[in-house]
Amino acid sequence: KADKKADASKPLRVATNATFVPFEFKEDANSKEYQGFEMDLLRAVAKEMGRDLEINNIAFSGIIPTLQQGDMDIAAAGMTVTKDRAQKVNFSEPFYESKLVILTPKNSGIKTAADLAGKQVAIQIGTTGAQYAEENGLQTKQFDNNSEVIMELSVGGSPAAILDKPVADYFLTKDGKDKYNEIEIPGTKSEYLAFAFNKDNKELMNEVNAAMEKLKANGEFQKLYKKWFNT
Ligand code: GLN
Repeated sequence: KADKKADASKPLRVATNATFVPFEFKEDANSKEYQGFEMDLLRAVAKEMGRDLEINNIAFSGIIPTLQQGDMDIAAAGMTVTKDRAQKVNFSEPFYESKLVILTPKNSGIKTAADLAGKQVAIQIGTTGAQYAEENGLQTKQFDNNSEVIMELSVGGSPAAILDKPVADYFLTKDGKDKYNEIEIPGTKSEYLAFAFNKDNKELMNEVNAAMEKLKANGEFQKLYKKWFNT
């Protein structure tokens, strides 16, 4: 393609929602620096590809639409590979195995997933956690950002939230262990997190997969994994 070179000289347009700790986040709202496992991984991938990054912080529910419209090249948003989404976007090879969990204050009285019946659950719009709540007929309070979901618990607005396990884990080790419980949801399956792309741009997906393979072969991927997940 004639325009291929010109395209590759432009930064990759990245869509994220930087409230998914420890995958993508900012130290505070005014910080320009994006931190986290997925951000580090993406920077390493871009370096392999010789591309710069232009990171755009948007609502999670807006990410698939921006890819479909061709306004962004890649989503780095802790996005779970699902059949529904795979009709709309392409996914890279997954880089993390996740799972949904319940996060609840210790004094909420919620001990199992069944205890959520009739209670209001905080969720982030457009996520698999929101989908779980809907499918199970739970009453929800909906937010654009995971940081607001966790805030909702700390101010006592809702007695529980449904989140990806690594996000809940990180929150507990940072500040919540003595105040919050993390509860398993029986029957929920593993969720595989991956980068997402516009359906028409298979080339970019292949390049990203090739770069990730390299980073796994040379140990860089494992180094980043250890840095953020300590395992
Ligand atoms: N992994 C979940 C999903 O894909 C949550 C992602 C997120 O909150 N950024 O829906």
